[in-house]
Amino acid sequence: MSDFDYDLFVIGGGSGGVRAARVAAGEAGAKVALAEEDRYGGTCVIRGCVPKKLMVFASEYAGVVEEAAAYGWDLTQGAFNWRAFQTRLNAELDRLEEIYRKLLKGSGVETYDARATVSGPHEVTLSTGETKTAKHILVATGGRPVRPDIPNAELGIVSDDIFHLDQLPKSLLIVGGGYIACEFAGIMNGLGVEVTQFYRGAQVLRGFDTEARDLVADSMRERGIDLQVDTNIAQMDRAADGAAVHVTSTTGDARDYDVVLFATGRDPNTDGMGLEPLGVVLGRRGQIEVDAYSQTAVPSIYAIGDVTDRVNLTPVAIREGMAFVETVFKGNPTQVDHDLIPSAIFTQPEMGTVGLSEEDARAQEPIEVYSTSFRPMQTSFAGRPDKVLMKLVVSQKTRKVLGCHIVAPGAGEMIQLAGIAVKMGATKEDFDRTVAVHPTMSEEMVTMRTPVRTA
Ligand code: NDP
Repeated sequence: MSDFDYDLFVIGGGSGGVRAARVAAGEAGAKVALAEEDRYGGTCVIRGCVPKKLMVFASEYAGVVEEAAAYGWDLTQGAFNWRAFQTRLNAELDRLEEIYRKLLKGSGVETYDARATVSGPHEVTLSTGETKTAKHILVATGGRPVRPDIPNAELGIVSDDIFHLDQLPKSLLIVGGGYIACEFAGIMNGLGVEVTQFYRGAQVLRGFDTEARDLVADSMRERGIDLQVDTNIAQMDRAADGAAVHVTSTTGDARDYDVVLFATGRDPNTDGMGLEPLGVVLGRRGQIEVDAYSQTAVPSIYAIGDVTDRVNLTPVAIREGMAFVETVFKGNPTQVDHDLIPSAIFTQPEMGTVGLSEEDARAQEPIEVYSTSFRPMQTSFAGRPDKVLMKLVVSQKTRKVLGCHIVAPGAGEMIQLAGIAVKMGATKEDFDRTVAVHPTMSEEMVTMRTPVRTA
């Protein structure tokens, strides 16, 4: 009989925390509790991936109607009804949250709808005032969007707020050049909002393959987004009408925007969690420092997901949660493999990527680059200028594909499968031996014969 109330207390009911709790209770037979102060499902389900992707779908219909006309359909474009969409979206999120609650209950996890902080190596304190003890504590509190430290920043909104807007703005300024900024620029533009985007650097999506970033940026502009690079907010104030925001840019432009959205990064949720006094080490941005087994400097306390700021993606948090359970509750020490993680950015068109960018690969070893950019059949027939990119970065020495980059409609779906080959260590010749699927965009991945560059 344990001296603790629980074998495991999980703080945070997002993707990582829920999975770890469920598996520890359901498969490893542990006595588990989980506390969540907000809604079950966390960032991904409630205010991230899921509602965002549904908004991407919503925003793409305008283009479909336009394209259909070129294919002979007699369709008229109606108006987008934000309220109708929002009602369905909220119902869907309620449904998903309920599923998360049921999954926890079905696995025998006790839940507390309360904020929990860590008050000892084996103790948590709930906002209800109760304390609970546990042999292990798992912190899975995720992250939150941050505004830049500039005067009047509170006049802007963050990504959490988008889903709750009463109405769509006529004009929107998005600040930032990362995933969230670029995805929402595409969504809002597709929904008919006049979108301006300021990015402080030379090109959006820093860290990704340059050729892919360039094509995404070109396509964003082509579709009507006013993307301004090397630009930031110099000053922002409430506009004379009392509702809009008056913004002066660092390039000297000044105008009113109905809404300003800051997509300027996310910080880990560790404020006031009680971790540092116990000896848990936090990094510069407040992220919890963990080892390869997700263990903190306090042996009974572990952390997974965005709060550790390793690779901030839902499937990674889930993997980290599963590895934690294997290690701690199944006697099978398991490190999470953070190498060659495929991912997609749901810009329009999407970018799918796995492995090294051309720039990073070149810095590592001699490479060959196979790359082709072309107008795909479907949109080209409709007279649209859209281009796609298929690209492989190959090691000259081992012939392995070090990086695969796709910019195209459906790139997220394509990269999931290409990711298997790359993860298996496929060589360029393995790709070449695979017969093309015709006519598709991705057949180019197995038909590129001559490198466009070596470096
Ligand atoms: P990112 O860190 O990706 O991007 C933040 C952006 O804001 C960067 O362009 C950064 O510029 C800019 N920025 C930061 N501070 C300032 C400032 N003070 N003034 C002006 N610009 C600033 O964060 P996101 O919020 O877009 O996304 C957070 C994380 O969420 C991502 O890293 C990703 O892991 C995850 N995510 C994943 C998605 C997916 O898989 N599809 C979708 C959405 C989010 P600079 O480049 O110069 O630093």
